[in-house]
Formats: sequence, structure tokens, C-alpha cells
Amino acid sequence: MAQDLVIGIDVGGQTTKCGVIDARGTVLAQTVIRTDTYTEIEPYIAELAAALQHIISEAGAEGHIRGIGVGAPNGNYYTGEIENAVNLTWGGTKRIAFSKLLSDAMNGIPVSLTNDANAAAMGEMTYGAARGMKNFIMITLGTGVGSGIVIDGKIVYGHDGFAGELGHTCAVRYNGRLCNCGKTGCLETYCSATGVARTAREWIEMTSEPSVLRSLDKVTSKDVYEAAKEGDKLALKIFEYTGTILGQKFADFIEFSAPEAIVLFGGLARAKEFLSGPIEKSMNANVLPLWRGKVKLVFSQLKESDAAILGASALAWEL
Ligand SMILES: [Zn+2]
Repeated sequence: MAQDLVIGIDVGGQTTKCGVIDARGTVLAQTVIRTDTYTEIEPYIAELAAALQHIISEAGAEGHIRGIGVGAPNGNYYTGEIENAVNLTWGGTKRIAFSKLLSDAMNGIPVSLTNDANAAAMGEMTYGAARGMKNFIMITLGTGVGSGIVIDGKIVYGHDGFAGELGHTCAVRYNGRLCNCGKTGCLETYCSATGVARTAREWIEMTSEPSVLRSLDKVTSKDVYEAAKEGDKLALKIFEYTGTILGQKFADFIEFSAPEAIVLFGGLARAKEFLSGPIEKSMNANVLPLWRGKVKLVFSQLKESDAAILGASALAWEL
């Protein structure tokens, strides 16, 4: 039988999404299980395998699955292990042989694993905005800032499998915000969804600028977006500040690997109308003249609901 289908799995802190996908990127069947109800890996893998068997039969795909691609926090492409994933309830500080455990539970179907931002980059390259590009940098703007670097058509994994932690490069050198990683001034403390909310709370406290955000109990990045759409000046300034920092950092990234484009994905990338102007402006002001106006800023075209599993599934075509 032709093995012309793959499975994509996106392991998130709360839920795990999985789908059966064909070569054109059509999701034939999909399902979601909880990640955070397990403190041990074995019962989680057992439920995941059962969920996969279910969508395989729903798609009529028995015998057609070429491989399984997994995007997971701290996923190591080289070893197939998830290492030190403190945001996963069964992760902790252990090294978990995820690919092997899942492959064993799935009667030997091969499994390939990488971190979520690399999976997103694979997804854009295979089905999305980066089709035909050989050099680009994927930036995911979610709870944190993730990145996947593609050079000569290949994801850069580095010596140990963890290359591309651009979200933890320094954006603000002096008095920078404390990051979950223990360092200060990391890009993700300013330009993730949480970073935007942090800026809003700081500015509400430090300035007297009138804003609808002042009436809210706990401001989220979505509140800032909604306020900006209504023309709220403080909210608009927050996006300008966020976009300016992103643009400065993108200029550095461009100088490192000369990409054709920077591709943006994730919840915060939905604020495209407020971010793209400030990003382009500061990116071009900070980059060497030879790249000025040359590097495209592209927003993901993948359907948000499918993007995570599509990204992971793209890995499986290499198996
Ligand atoms: Zn950090």
C-alpha cells in the first residue's frame, strides 16, 4: 500500500493536537487530547497512541502512514528526546525518549521530533508562506518568542540540536526585564504576548495617559489589540514600541544569515496592522544598507487552527 500520508502532532503545555495529513497539506482527520492531566509519560503516550489509532481509522489511513512528526517544547531533533521541558506536567528536568516511546506504541511507525518553532518553520516551507524559499527565519510570537532558522533549505539544529533561541537574545541591555530563563532583557520579555501585557501594565502605572486599558483588572495582549483597533493612543504606542524592538532584533538576525524573509506566526502576529509598520521601519533603519528594503516581512498564511499540526507533519515527509 502507498505510504502517502503523515501524522502531525503539536505538544503544548495544556493540549496535544494531532492530525492525519496528505501531501497537499489537507488535514483529513484530527483530534485533541489533554497534556496536563498526566504527571508520568507512559499513560500520556498510551492515550496519545489510542487517539492516533482513532484518527487513522477515521481517515481510512491504515497502512498509509509514512511517519509521524512531532513539535514539542525543548524537542531535540538529533536524539528524539524532550529535555528539561518544565512547562510540561510530565516533563520536569528529565530527558524523555519521546520518539522511541511513541514509535513503540505505534507498531514501529517512525517518529521525528523537533521544537515547536522549528516545526512551524517546516510547515511554512512545506505548505505556507515560505514555499520555495531556501533562506528565512521563522519567528513565533506566542506566550514566548520562538525561532526557527532555515539556511540553504535546511533547519539549523546546531551542535546539540537546540540552535535558534533568538527569543532569548538580549533586546534591552540595561535594566532589562527578568526572563523565565533567568537572564534579563530577553527579546521575549518584551515582544511576546506576555511581554506586550507587561508593557501595558508598566505604562499604565508609570504614565498618566488616558486609556480604556486602565479600567481593566488584568490587561492581556488581546485587550491591547482590541483597544488599538478602537484607536486607543496608549495601545497604539505599545504596539509601536513592540514593533520597534522586534525590528531592531530582526536587523541583527538578518546580518547573521542574510535571509530572504522573516516569517511571523503566532497569536501576537494577528496584530499585523499595528506591528508591520514599526517593524519595517526599525528593521530597515538598523540593518546594513546592503539589506535595506530587501528582506521581506511575511505573516503566516496557514490557517491558525491547522498550522501547528501541519508544521509538525512536515517533518514526517523526511522520514
Ligand atoms: Zn530569556
